[in-house]
Amino acid sequence: MENQLSIYNTLSRKKELFEPIHSPRVGLYVCGPTVYGDPHLGHARPAITFDILFRYLTHLEYKVRYVRNITDVGHLVNDADSGEDKIAKKARLEDLEPMEVVQYYLNRYHKAMDALNVLPPGIEPHASGHIIEQIQLVKDILDKGYAYESEGSVYFDVEKYNGKYHYGLLSGRNIEDMLNTTRELEGQEEKRNAIDFALWKKAAPEHIMRWPSPWSDGFPGWHLECTAMSKKYLGEEFDIHGGGMDLIFPHHECEIAQSVASTGKPAVKYWMHNNMITVNGQKMGKSLGNFINLEEFFTGNHRLLTQAYSAMTIRFFILQAHYRSTVDFSNEALQASEKGLSRLMDAYDKLKKMHDPDNRQIGPSENSTVTEKIKGLRDKCYAVMNDDLNTPKLIANLSEVVSVINSVWDEKERISGEESGELYDTFKIFLIDILGLKEEDQSTKENDDTLNNVMDFLLKMRQKAKEDKDWDKADWIRKQLAEYGIEIKDTKDGSNWKLNK
Ligand code: ZN
Repeated sequence: MENQLSIYNTLSRKKELFEPIHSPRVGLYVCGPTVYGDPHLGHARPAITFDILFRYLTHLEYKVRYVRNITDVGHLVNDADSGEDKIAKKARLEDLEPMEVVQYYLNRYHKAMDALNVLPPGIEPHASGHIIEQIQLVKDILDKGYAYESEGSVYFDVEKYNGKYHYGLLSGRNIEDMLNTTRELEGQEEKRNAIDFALWKKAAPEHIMRWPSPWSDGFPGWHLECTAMSKKYLGEEFDIHGGGMDLIFPHHECEIAQSVASTGKPAVKYWMHNNMITVNGQKMGKSLGNFINLEEFFTGNHRLLTQAYSAMTIRFFILQAHYRSTVDFSNEALQASEKGLSRLMDAYDKLKKMHDPDNRQIGPSENSTVTEKIKGLRDKCYAVMNDDLNTPKLIANLSEVVSVINSVWDEKERISGEESGELYDTFKIFLIDILGLKEEDQSTKENDDTLNNVMDFLLKMRQKAKEDKDWDKADWIRKQLAEYGIEIKDTKDGSNWKLNK
């Protein structure tokens, strides 16, 4: 396979040529949401970032096994080893079963991802469905001597691990300093060292999400699920692990420690992280009052929003920044994106019509600059995508030829049929298939198109029956369609149909 894709590896802190362990098979694991609240921009960004990666790898003809987990247990409110479970807390406040909370917010998450045209992963495993695998992993780490049991809980022994391996490899944190400065164990006397993290936690009597284990009735530590589930579905070694930058420490650092401690080798070849989103220059947070969920963007129903923004505008806006840069949301920026997107989609629509030979005649190209521009476009698009998925440059490359498309449309410029075909193909590949942008009402339109095609086919079949003098069959087709509310009219020019609703 001809492939020059380079991706930035957080582990080596540089761009590396992408070389899968088992080409053309690629294992991709992305940390999914903890489902206890409405989906928001913080969910949209990693989902879209890794959707682009998934789409591009697939376009390059890799066979991608894409796993994105659902965290539904073990993620405690302070992201550390104490406090209530995020989902159990929500269940308590709303007087619901924890799995009702999970299902409710998971349905909303899926709906929002569909609207954003984020393709579903191949496997979406739940942490609570993999307790057995997680218990086995704790046993493996205990057997290797890198964990200890204390009061019914099991903790990872960071100091011991760091004596043989290197804890802090991914985050670049100096663990020697942390070991020396965090000897104080406020309320965490069970641990030998404050930097140790929980693999298994004994459940307090009031804790409702609990499972039996050799150590106690309890629940797995937050970091454990991703190590256990990636191993189950992608094997002991796989290609890419992704997630938001906020997960580098402690979550991903702990994942590396868990897999190295249990198998003796790191599981992941390339670590990829998307940057964060700010709102009007501020960190997004519920306490700051600038927390806008996706549905509020789609409806415009939030005091910080001056209008509604479509899902495609949000997607396009996120893609206008490189995934490793921060994105700052503001009404002005979103309005600019809305215009930029409609300019591109409009150009694509014109290309579709120009491309249809019955619709528009295109003369030979008369302008060599235009010819050069069109000729080099596809390669330029691949070059920027191969350079660590540079979507802002890809959008700029496509936007550059919009004026050419508009001039041809307005008949101020002429290009050859071959050139218009090349433009159409390039837009289709990069704008639609890889950037994943679509006309917002496309699904209804696609259904209409399909119905039209199926009806054309049925009318042809009936015409053929009539030519064969198979009157029974022709009549049968007419009657069957009538049952579905479709009326066929025969005229001297052939047959037509209409839907009686
Ligand atoms: Zn994870």
